[in-house]
Amino acid sequence: MLFRSKLIIHLIPFEDRRQILVTHDVTEFDRLEQMRRDFIANASHELRTPLTVINGFLEIANSEPDMDGPTRQQHLRLMNEQGKRMQNLVDDMLVLTRLESIDSLPKEDRIEMRPFLEQLHSEAEALSLGRHTITVNMTGPDLLGSSDELRSAFGNLVSNAVRYTPEGGQISISWQPTVQGATFSVSDTGIGISQEHLSRLTERFYRVDKGRSRETQGTGLGLAIVKHVLMRHNASLHIESEPGKGSTFSIQFPVTALPGNLS
Ligand code: ADP
Repeated sequence: MLFRSKLIIHLIPFEDRRQILVTHDVTEFDRLEQMRRDFIANASHELRTPLTVINGFLEIANSEPDMDGPTRQQHLRLMNEQGKRMQNLVDDMLVLTRLESIDSLPKEDRIEMRPFLEQLHSEAEALSLGRHTITVNMTGPDLLGSSDELRSAFGNLVSNAVRYTPEGGQISISWQPTVQGATFSVSDTGIGISQEHLSRLTERFYRVDKGRSRETQGTGLGLAIVKHVLMRHNASLHIESEPGKGSTFSIQFPVTALPGNLS
């Protein structure tokens, strides 16, 4: 989004025929205000749809007490789905708000990467339900950082790979040492993303395909969470993607994030 600079200018007369000109640059203040308003508008919009569905079914249930069993079952299932959607959304909003409001540096747990990645692998398998081939390739060292935050960031990339890769596709998770430190990456052979969207993917609620994101229980906040966690760990996100071919999301960690860092 483009913002013009906004200056507030006060002209204060003093003594005889003299004036002081005071300027305040409120551009940043305005930008933050606008972001806050957008976030609240988007979040309310996202919550409104599932709430409307649930309220609609509750009204039907009230007005039709003798509804047949199978229809009631189907309504309950749909309400359950929408309830989960709201739960995911509120959970992700709380994670994001918490990440933004902590001033302190992240914890420096020593994360043993082998079990960490094994756990990530089983979570990916559970989400995929056998629809994808998922491999893990690890040659990198252990990592220093907040294990909760990094589990959430890595988990978001892996869950996206599963959610945006059609059945039969491949997903590879890797953790490798590099000259600058180490890189965690997730590659998939999924639907891919065209170039013009790449720079906006970490914006809150930005989605290339809203329908697909919602169908797969997406909140539109996953990559915003990833971005915040990485900023707190001095790490950076790189995305390469080609529509119809697949995507690679990589996180580059500096050497200072590695135990007994070799710098
Ligand atoms: P969502 O909950 O919608 O997945 P994210 O913030 O995690 O939200 O991702 C933002 C958008 O980026 C997604 O809606 C999707 O359009 C796109 N995206 C993320 N990961 C992938 C991927 N591996 N392949 C294709 N598109 C992806």
